[in-house]
Amino acid sequence: MSKPNEKVHMLTQDAQKRKNNFSEVATGLTEELVLQEAERCLNCKNPLCVAGCPVGINIPKFIQLIKEKKYLEAAVVINQDNLLPAICGRVCPQENQCEQACVLNKSGKSIGIGYLERFVADYQRKHSKEETKERPSSKGKKVAIIGSGPSGLTCASELKKMGYGVTIFEAFHKPGGVLVYGIPEFRLPKDIVNYEIDNLRKMGVEIRTNSVIGRLKTIDKLFEEGFDAVYIATGAGHPVFMSVEGEELNYVYSSNEFLTRVNLMEAYKFPEVDTPVVLGKKVAVIGGGNTAMDSARCALRMGTEKVYCIYRRSEKEMPARVEEIEHAKEEGVEFMFLTAPVKYIGDTENNVKKAVCIKMELGELDASGRRRPVPISGSEFEIEVDSVVVAIGTNANPLISETTKDMEVNKWGYIVADEAGRTTKKYVYAGGDIVTGSATVIKAMGAGKETAHVIDEDLEKKDR
Ligand code: FAD
Ligand code: SF4
Repeated sequence: MSKPNEKVHMLTQDAQKRKNNFSEVATGLTEELVLQEAERCLNCKNPLCVAGCPVGINIPKFIQLIKEKKYLEAAVVINQDNLLPAICGRVCPQENQCEQACVLNKSGKSIGIGYLERFVADYQRKHSKEETKERPSSKGKKVAIIGSGPSGLTCASELKKMGYGVTIFEAFHKPGGVLVYGIPEFRLPKDIVNYEIDNLRKMGVEIRTNSVIGRLKTIDKLFEEGFDAVYIATGAGHPVFMSVEGEELNYVYSSNEFLTRVNLMEAYKFPEVDTPVVLGKKVAVIGGGNTAMDSARCALRMGTEKVYCIYRRSEKEMPARVEEIEHAKEEGVEFMFLTAPVKYIGDTENNVKKAVCIKMELGELDASGRRRPVPISGSEFEIEVDSVVVAIGTNANPLISETTKDMEVNKWGYIVADEAGRTTKKYVYAGGDIVTGSATVIKAMGAGKETAHVIDEDLEKKDR
């Protein structure tokens, strides 16, 4: 039960029930709770929450409209700055953004801005009678977008609204990027992502799936085919391993492969869908970010008996959202903090059977501002595992940079782009994770939106 004048609690499926299904964990607020939450907003003259929002949504204005029960009007206000509010309302780390900045956070009673955004966006999807219309390509110019994650989708929408012909090239067979292949159904139902993608198609954006740029064709080839500009939004989906002995054993997965198989290939519907993932009874997930939480919670739902989450720092340093950590604990994921694997041992058929781990302690601050984990010598111990999911981060995929030699990348392989999204190659732009490294949905969207306007400016100038 929520106390008056405190942030309302999100309604959720019971933990014991939900750990056996892929349906959404958070079931949303009732209208009554939404109104109760909106009433707490002070409608500040200097709204700190807006400064905390990476895309600057007019938060007090949309909350005021909620108070007046004008939900569709509230949605219009959000849409001015955010194309995908039903997605952001669910996955944005509001506790580090708008809600952290909210003036009421000083007393720990910040407004549940994400909950309200989600309610309004869901209401709009269910009740709006407005049909998405086709937008003509009135500018007579075409832009190619590589990658259909939040950055590519947002850039496509903005450019289409401005009158450009827009084609998205996507490597996978389904568009959506991490929103469909990474974040699981129980956190972000795919219907919501598909609804937004359908709207883009209705606007006239062409989406070509199974199109790996760098293999199928190069960026120069896109220009030869008549595109006037290219926006690269390929994310940072290249798996990273720890280089410990035994990582090559069977059933040691990268989190990308594991989550892609479960979410995009729908392994959780096996045998109805013919893409099984073999996990066995005991799974060790390595890492402490959102990807690790998603992997651990997917593993539970795939029917494993025991899921360990092994993280080399303490809980305080975990980069995952607090809500996701809490949900994982409630569902029964067993956390092993200050622990790291040093070796995996297999059986005679090269199937992983044991993880040798070492205990860690926290030392001096490192470059990330967190205390560096230091192994405690002699503290090694073994745990039995049938599979391992390595979720320690990702890198840039080198495919495009290797086939675009005249575009600069940094030493980690991320594309060098200025604040406006311009790369070192003329009329080639980049944004989202492929520039910043793994970040957030809203930041990737923000880059897509801003760069769309820069592309427009540059192409307009080209004609003068
Ligand atoms: P992506 O979403 O990675 O999309 C890139 C797309 O480009 C992909 O579809 C890929 O197939 C395609 N592509 C790649 N190379 C090529 C090529 N050569 N040719 C054609 N297409 C190509 N952020 C949050 O804010 N909240 C969360 O809760 C959250 N949870 C996450 C959970 C997981 C498991 C992961 C992996 C990430 C999570 N993130 C979260 C981070 C967030 O999803 C990313 O920051 C965001 O998706 C980046 O968007 P993007 O458009 O830059 O790239
Ligand atoms: Fe409302 Fe908090 Fe924003 Fe003030 S800072 S307008 S209280 S959400």
